[in-house]
Amino acid sequence: MKTVLLHTCCGPCGFSATKFLSDRFDIKYYWYNPNIQPFQEYEKRLNVARQLFSLVIDDYAEKEWLSAVKDIADNKNERCIRCYRVRLTKTAKRAKELKTDFFTTTLLISPYQHHDVIKEMAEEIASTVGLGFYYYDGRPDFYKNYNEFKKTGFYTQKYCGCLFGKNEK
Ligand code: SF4
Repeated sequence: MKTVLLHTCCGPCGFSATKFLSDRFDIKYYWYNPNIQPFQEYEKRLNVARQLFSLVIDDYAEKEWLSAVKDIADNKNERCIRCYRVRLTKTAKRAKELKTDFFTTTLLISPYQHHDVIKEMAEEIASTVGLGFYYYDGRPDFYKNYNEFKKTGFYTQKYCGCLFGKNEK
């Protein structure tokens, strides 16, 4: 079976992505989410993901993430696009180091993200890094899977990740 490194943004999306990927891949779950603020919230989400998956975890590099977005923090679209790039680039590099066949991301689950941008960006990063990106569209089952996840009783977050986004809600 081929292997995929799945950038996992949170427990609910990891739960949903697993349904799309587990028939095709041996999944390695990867945690790199320096966009989650404040740190207490980061810990809560990581704690859920840790209980569900065996994770490869990279550090909470909040300063690097902030330096990538701070000049356009008020521009939601541009900020999110840069946020994707930070996380997808690191995921692709990690996948290369870990020698998985592909990388992908749970961001493809959400109808609230810029799905087509993520796909195009990940394909571009994949060709730069020299590794396959696995595309899937998890949006049609988003609510069904989310409701199923809620029945587990695990914590579910109320906003995307950063405080900029939280304040915009
Ligand atoms: S709203 Fe979400 S995707 Fe956009 S910058 Fe914040 S954490 Fe990243």
